[in-house]
Amino acid sequence: MTKTPEQRSRTMRAVKSVDTSPEMAVRSMAHRMGLRFRLYRKDLPGKPDLVFPRLHKVIFVHGCFWHGHDCLRARRPKTNVEYWSRKIARNHSRDVVNSAKLMKLGWMAGVIWECELKKPEIVRKRLARFLR
Ligand SMILES: [Zn+2]
Repeated sequence: MTKTPEQRSRTMRAVKSVDTSPEMAVRSMAHRMGLRFRLYRKDLPGKPDLVFPRLHKVIFVHGCFWHGHDCLRARRPKTNVEYWSRKIARNHSRDVVNSAKLMKLGWMAGVIWECELKKPEIVRKRLARFLR
């Protein structure tokens, strides 16, 4: 059966949202470590990916491209440079504002970058240290 473009893009979206996302990787890692968290609380600035209510700590899992991580500095798109850098800069400053807001509300925010997940052992250590 052939699919209409609409059906196809729905399928693509569904595929994208399964277990392979960096957010899911961190969540299942935290889960295996026996850390108890909530997925997110809509009332918190920036909608953190993992929320640890008792500790008053939250974790954001950031995609390196969209959030302007240094690891990709040399590999930014060569076309539409202005468009991309403006978009990425906007995301980046939103991140800064959100963690400042969280801090004001008494929450401590940590960030796990997508690229760090290539070394799960290091991420596990950082999680353990952050949540101590
Ligand atoms: Zn990165």
